[in-house]
Amino acid sequence: MIDVTKPFLPPIEEYQSLVNDIWSRNWLTNNGPLVRNLEIELKKHLELDHLLFTTNGTIALQLAIRALNLTGEIITTPFSYVATTSSIVWENCRPVFADIDRNRLTIDPTKIEALITKETTGILATHVYGIPCHVEEIEVIAKKYSLKVIYDAAHAFGTQYKNKSLLDYGDVSTLSTHATKLFHTIEGGAVISKDAEVIKRMELLRNFGHDGAYKFNGVGINGKNSEFHAAMGVINLKHIDAILADRIRVSQHYDSRLLSLNIRRPEIPKSTRYNHSYYPIIMENEEILLKVSHSLQANGISTRRYFFPALDTLDYVIKANNPVCDNIAPRVLCLPMYFNLLRSDIDQICDIILKEMKN
Ligand SMILES: *Cc1c(COP(=O)(O)O)cnc(C)c1O
Repeated sequence: MIDVTKPFLPPIEEYQSLVNDIWSRNWLTNNGPLVRNLEIELKKHLELDHLLFTTNGTIALQLAIRALNLTGEIITTPFSYVATTSSIVWENCRPVFADIDRNRLTIDPTKIEALITKETTGILATHVYGIPCHVEEIEVIAKKYSLKVIYDAAHAFGTQYKNKSLLDYGDVSTLSTHATKLFHTIEGGAVISKDAEVIKRMELLRNFGHDGAYKFNGVGINGKNSEFHAAMGVINLKHIDAILADRIRVSQHYDSRLLSLNIRRPEIPKSTRYNHSYYPIIMENEEILLKVSHSLQANGISTRRYFFPALDTLDYVIKANNPVCDNIAPRVLCLPMYFNLLRSDIDQICDIILKEMKN
């Protein structure tokens, strides 16, 4: 059985050693030393000003929307994981969908301006598969109309754009460190901002609004994370260079084996050091996609249709007609991609794809 993803697990002794420390301190959660240490290490590693570790990537999105006081309409992408849209709705805002760029599969900046109304307060875009959005064009629009920009950077750990972390763009960037992500803490996420005020608000929001033991500054939620999750992050961060390097190996082997086929790959913009967080292929049509994925499944190989269906078809949003997304979402397939995926397994996957597509 080859899964589409497999969580990275460090040598157990490394994790055990930090668990022993937790036992001796008897400090399990509530901004403990490992949580603070992980935040410091992540800021250092990613060269970021401010970062807060959160329960997960969905709460991170909700904290960002709250902290930036977004209301009314938020312009967003229909091509992402459901949490990008559900967090907007959960925060009592309305998602307004702009179509995607057919090359990068991220939000198409030329489609944003026509959707702006008096009700629009922000843009929430996803660096889908870790591919940078058109951050410069989006910034120009946001400035012109005084909109806030949130990037759902759940896939973006390790991607650099113009010599800095992709997490350093936007008013707030959010990260997921869920077990399926390239850098993980089992469950977890983070909010990132250059603005100390915004970070301060998110810090209050993350901890019930506690401003000291007996004073509350606004309504908050429990968005904290535990020492056990932080421990996994501290250890996994030590392995991150190996994790990123191995994904290049996997990607390149897929590239070389699938070269001859009529499949398209999303475009990585110039000045990007890409993290290879996924291996999506864009097939000619949905019929071929289904034929290939069924054949892989029959051979014990799982794939995922990230991201299908498009989010502008969810039953709790106002439906939108986005021809590029409607056309592409049904024919993208993500192939297995994880640390130490065997070369022989990649060969087996490619043999099946080649066989199905040449028939
Ligand atoms: C994984 C993911 C999320 C949600 O993160 P969780 O940590 O699972 O809550 C949000 N957006 C995108 C694009 C994701 O892939």
